[in-house]
Amino acid sequence: MNNTTIKMAKRKRIALVAHDNKKSDLLDWARFNRGLLEEHELWATGTTGLLLQKELGLKVHILQSGPLGGDQQVGAKIAEGLIDFLIFFWDPLESLPHDPDVKALLRIAVVWNLPVACDRASADFIISSPLMKEEYARQVPDYSGYRARPLRLD
Ligand code: PGA
Repeated sequence: MNNTTIKMAKRKRIALVAHDNKKSDLLDWARFNRGLLEEHELWATGTTGLLLQKELGLKVHILQSGPLGGDQQVGAKIAEGLIDFLIFFWDPLESLPHDPDVKALLRIAVVWNLPVACDRASADFIISSPLMKEEYARQVPDYSGYRARPLRLD
């Protein structure tokens, strides 16, 4: 499959999501990186976003709470090319009512070759990358062949 590109500007559009047992981890990480984060455009699921706003005073676009559709909203934004990377601290030790949404979000991120950090170490590496300060042409597969695939309609 050929590739095409999606342009990421210097000011990145970052989505942040943390499951309940991971919220303090995300908050710690965001507090440490507050100065960097406020240079970018932030999106978050409901409760995560409110915490970032209330505890750190960050400006965040707040979506629905995850179990109420917030993960799916983030996924839709990724599919529309409106998010540049995802910080997603999901809980590996608990199953949640919206596990299918979690899987769908992780899947759609890979469909669009979107950088994802699922733990603090990965988030540290992403946020400290020199690419954070630059424009970046993200390669994504050219799905036009897939869209034009022959279908049997009989
Ligand atoms: P929340 O959603 O930020 O509303 O808690 C996160 C999630 O569970 O996906």
